[in-house]
Amino acid sequence: MKQLLLAISLCMAGSVMAEKASVGIVIHGGAGTIDRSQMTDEQQKNYEAALADAVNKGYELLAAGGSSLDAVTLAVTVLEDSPLFNAGKGAVYTWDETHELDAAIMTGQDRNAGAVSSVTNVKNPILLARAIMEQSEHVMLTGKGAEQFAASQQLELVDNNYFNTDFRFEALKRAKEAQQQLPHQAAIVADPNWKMGTVGAVAIDHTGNLAAATSTGGMTAKRWGRVGDVPVIGAGNFADNTSCAVSGTGHGEYFIRYNVAADICARVKYQGKTAASAASEVIDELLQAGGTGGVIVVDSKGELSWAFNTQGMYRAKRDDSGTVVEIFATQREKAGN
Ligand code: ASP
Repeated sequence: MKQLLLAISLCMAGSVMAEKASVGIVIHGGAGTIDRSQMTDEQQKNYEAALADAVNKGYELLAAGGSSLDAVTLAVTVLEDSPLFNAGKGAVYTWDETHELDAAIMTGQDRNAGAVSSVTNVKNPILLARAIMEQSEHVMLTGKGAEQFAASQQLELVDNNYFNTDFRFEALKRAKEAQQQLPHQAAIVADPNWKMGTVGAVAIDHTGNLAAATSTGGMTAKRWGRVGDVPVIGAGNFADNTSCAVSGTGHGEYFIRYNVAADICARVKYQGKTAASAASEVIDELLQAGGTGGVIVVDSKGELSWAFNTQGMYRAKRDDSGTVVEIFATQREKAGN
């Protein structure tokens, strides 16, 4: 009898949880000096359409009962396939005029994670990160070994020049010119446009499970096998059902040093802060340290939020209250509310 009662109460607890969680998704396409006067109406429309497409596809999957893991995978894949963003097609160039891609994915119910760095021929690095999480006993694979694993998983492989775009090549030329005059870090501050466009998604599904996914070409003109924050679990990507899920974008070296994504979730978990206020605190502290960027967040109650310390962040969210697609900081965000 006792066992029956226990089983009934566990069942009820499960169904209460399921009812409580309303599904939602937030995505980003990079943060930085996104200057309204430098963007044509057509460019703006193209960015907005790509963001809306990704967030809607992710949301529809969630609304049909799909998992947050599938929703973030799908949204990031859509953004990787768009040449507008610094991930997959459209990734920035390395110093040697090639592309090296990083990605990570994490599930909040078990803190399982997969990450990949410096791959050159995997069409959708987020699918490789997910295969590492689900099909290997490892968390992070890199370079040639990661590419061999991708081939063993029958993931789509492409020539490195598949990722080429003219505007990223122009950005590389500008970056090289600037770096001849300035040391690396200083040059980045002088022209933050070079490096933006990383993509990410965080979501909550009908079971209350959180997930986060992030994918990037890294920073323009990177060399010496530089790896940014994205594949470093807890820096640029993190998910834990007891607090929140975060995907970041910005100057990766700072995100690694400040453990940005995990720090936001730790403040939610241990200090009882809302995810939105934890995110803006950490992003403010990042700026004080000299780091620019932003994050998107979903917490275990399904609250969707974002925070950034740059002029803009390509971003969109959708839950049962509707869809929001934004590029520039709104008046409220500029005022710090
Ligand atoms: N965080 C990425 C990196 O440092 C770049 C970006 O988000 O723009 O590799």
